[in-house]
Amino acid sequence: MPRHSDKPKPVSVYVRCRPRNTNEKNTGSPSIIQCSKKEVVVKQHNTNLNKKYTFDHVYGPESSQVDVYKGVAQSAIEEVLQGYNCTVFAYGQTGTGKTYTMEGDRSVGSNLPWEKDPKIGLIPRCMSHMFDRLNSQASDFSVRLSMLELYNEELFDLLSTTDSNTTKLRLFEDSTRKGSVVIQGLEEVQVMNKDEVYQVMERAMQKRRTAETLLNAHSSRSHVVFTVTVHIKSVTQDDIGECEEEVFKMGKFNLVDLAGSENIGRSGALNARAREAGNINQSLLTLGRVITALVDRAPHIPYRESKLTRLLQDSLGGRTQTSIIATISPAACNLEETLSTLDYANRAK
Ligand code: ADP
Ligand code: MG
Repeated sequence: MPRHSDKPKPVSVYVRCRPRNTNEKNTGSPSIIQCSKKEVVVKQHNTNLNKKYTFDHVYGPESSQVDVYKGVAQSAIEEVLQGYNCTVFAYGQTGTGKTYTMEGDRSVGSNLPWEKDPKIGLIPRCMSHMFDRLNSQASDFSVRLSMLELYNEELFDLLSTTDSNTTKLRLFEDSTRKGSVVIQGLEEVQVMNKDEVYQVMERAMQKRRTAETLLNAHSSRSHVVFTVTVHIKSVTQDDIGECEEEVFKMGKFNLVDLAGSENIGRSGALNARAREAGNINQSLLTLGRVITALVDRAPHIPYRESKLTRLLQDSLGGRTQTSIIATISPAACNLEETLSTLDYANRAK
């Protein structure tokens, strides 16, 4: 199908397949996924299954954190520094590497400073690069972070300094900026350097773990939205170098670790089992519809139908860069979920 070539592609779609885990190896579940540059092939001999999908890029089990960062997020930082908004989503079945991709791990037993650790994920890498870029420019800037969790269509602040782990936040339309929302009470933490970012992230993760026990929630059913907002003031001179002018730019970068996709069926709608159990994740369902509407350039985008899409409205569509990383397992035992994730990702192209 021909693309509308005059406009930038609204959504870039990537797939990342993690290595087989110990459980999958111990139970003898074979790998049924072949990854090459832009292709995923799902192949099972005993069932004659042989399906091929094409994406912007496919990261196989050997891909490193830095590969994914360079391919998916590095260029978005340049956009953000130019004053645009960008969003990266991790979508996939629980246990396939969404959190590993976004936040990463720390290598066990190593004394490496976090910045040198090969296992750190997109968020710390983006922040590190952003500070390098900002520090190399002779301009004033400020960087603010927020991190919230969306569970059951309710918002919780992961950076709030109050003792309560269960403070709910409210969303309001911003009357001064069309298409933007204000999150009342959301803590925005100003950070001066990379190390502060890492401290803030670790604090948020601790809070998420505590909130999880308090709310009896499972992280697989909540979305985590990390947002960095950067304000830049630079001084430019006119052509003959006489008149100085101050230029202000504001850019926003959202990195979203979505709830597990296991309740979403192959058609993109809620599967019957989940519907019966009342496991309706409104935000995950609406996100699918919003992405499809953006890709189809539909006149109406249903942002307002869920909290997640409402709060990201100013960073989805229009002059923004949106990327989805669909994470999958290579093992045969996860075949149905893998096909479901690949079908979802395929519709977002
Ligand atoms: P999710 O957030 O999608 O539920 P996780 O990110 O928690 O999944 O990943 C599940 C487990 O698999 C974790 O122990 C994680 O460290 C490991 N893992 C995920 N992706 C990779 C990868 N690409 N390489 C190595 N280990 C991975
Ligand atoms: Mg996770």
